[in-house]
Amino acid sequence: MSRYMNGRYASISVYTPGEQPKDMSRVVKLNTNESPYPPAPGVAGAVAAEVNRLRLYSDPTCGALRDALAGLFGVKRENIYVASGSDDILNFAFMAFAGDGVPAFFPDITYGFYSVFAGLHGVESRIVPLREDFSIDPADYAGCGGLVVIANPNAPTGLALSRDAIEGIVRANPDHVVLVDEAYVDFGAETCAPLTARYDNLLVVQTFSKSRGMAGARLGFAVGGAGLIGDLERLRFSTNPYNVNRMTLAAGVAAIRENDYYMANCRRIEDTREASARALEALGFEVIPSKANFIFARCPGMEGGALYERLKARGILVRHFDAPRISDYLRITVGSEEDMARLLAGCREIVEVQRHEKG
Ligand code: PMP
Repeated sequence: MSRYMNGRYASISVYTPGEQPKDMSRVVKLNTNESPYPPAPGVAGAVAAEVNRLRLYSDPTCGALRDALAGLFGVKRENIYVASGSDDILNFAFMAFAGDGVPAFFPDITYGFYSVFAGLHGVESRIVPLREDFSIDPADYAGCGGLVVIANPNAPTGLALSRDAIEGIVRANPDHVVLVDEAYVDFGAETCAPLTARYDNLLVVQTFSKSRGMAGARLGFAVGGAGLIGDLERLRFSTNPYNVNRMTLAAGVAAIRENDYYMANCRRIEDTREASARALEALGFEVIPSKANFIFARCPGMEGGALYERLKARGILVRHFDAPRISDYLRITVGSEEDMARLLAGCREIVEVQRHEKG
């Protein structure tokens, strides 16, 4: 760090993204929850058409995309916020709805960026432990007195709460914002977006990175009451009103037009997830029931870091979090059927080598 760095940021801990290997031909990449499937047929043409218009700034209101999303969710443009990835929205939400004496409440095991944003904005983090089985107890979030942030399904566990359970949390915190991060909701959980019509303190955040296979385009959106959306817009227009580029806006509109294609891919990923989970269990793994496009699992008798390294040595990249309670687990993105066959072959080999060494 240089001696010029603002002291306020000198001690923040930064987020560590998953590895992005240079040579993709050598690895089965199951470490950052990307989609294994290509974009819908109309997306490439929509992006190409924008290249000719790149000398012009993008639409700062993101109007066409907000209208397309409003149509999908049965709301108005004023209820949709668009940003460069959902991380961008989470960042602004911590800025807008916490701090200045208002803490943020979130589970001990959840998306690692929440504590990073809290640190960045000087927000006090109130960490709420998950139950022993990694589930969230909604009763822990009654009358919190601060911003509540819940990933649903949670990451990296994949466990989901019902819409009714989330509604209970929203009702139990009428004076603060409840942010539901639905990055993985399209893989089998229930969206809380319809509740935003009834609760002005509920913000639902989603992304095009997972179920719509556009992680590299950087596109996220939020659904909420006009008040909360207006607050986020205030911050966006105070930083970078052109934060979503032309090509990404066009890709987003095209993707929504072909929503059925993406939802069919989600169903396919769910089938692959269930088949892979059963196959891992047959090898002796313990698998947490997932409603996301990843599986959180451990191999009893093997430390998570060791399993991660052994898979990596076989060209299979997954995610290991060296954190309390979960260091024995691996988060494995659900890839294509072929990717998962390679993962399972690698796991089988590792389990057999271990059995041989022990026996
Ligand atoms: N929320 C959760 C729970 C995530 O796992 C991720 C992906 N790392 C994000 C938000 C951010 O996704 P993006 O910025 O690509 O929309």
